[in-house]
Amino acid sequence: MEFVDRLLTCADCGGEFIFTAGEQLFFFDKQFKNDPKRCKPCKSKRSGASAKAGTGPAAAGLSRTETRTECSACGIETTVPFKPTQGRPVLCRQCFQTKRAPTTGALVTAAATAELVAGKAGDPSAVSADLLAAAQAPLA
Ligand SMILES: [Zn+2]
Ligand SMILES: [Zn+2]
Repeated sequence: MEFVDRLLTCADCGGEFIFTAGEQLFFFDKQFKNDPKRCKPCKSKRSGASAKAGTGPAAAGLSRTETRTECSACGIETTVPFKPTQGRPVLCRQCFQTKRAPTTGALVTAAATAELVAGKAGDPSAVSADLLAAAQAPLA
């Protein structure tokens, strides 16, 4: 199955937006039957509005892609730049680094990958998950 970028019309603002091949692959993977209806700005406007309800001022500093969760190791509240999978341990930055401590190179890689994942979080493609898995893979 091959995907090419497609031009769709936003249901909210009527503007055209690109439904990228990567996004189509993601939709295909998830077996979504319908094309996206809205461009990214309109989508984030909507989810931004609904996300505002019920979040305190403390949450205001967080970007939409960050998820609040509890560290599986020390139990402190932390945020991760991705949606944690149910049942999988999530570590706060400190525990993550302690676990991966052996070499400074590993730390740098993990941090850089976290940045990368954070930057790509708006596009929930399999690539991000792979990067994350690579960052968490034990270094030989
Ligand atoms: Zn729009
Ligand atoms: Zn921790």
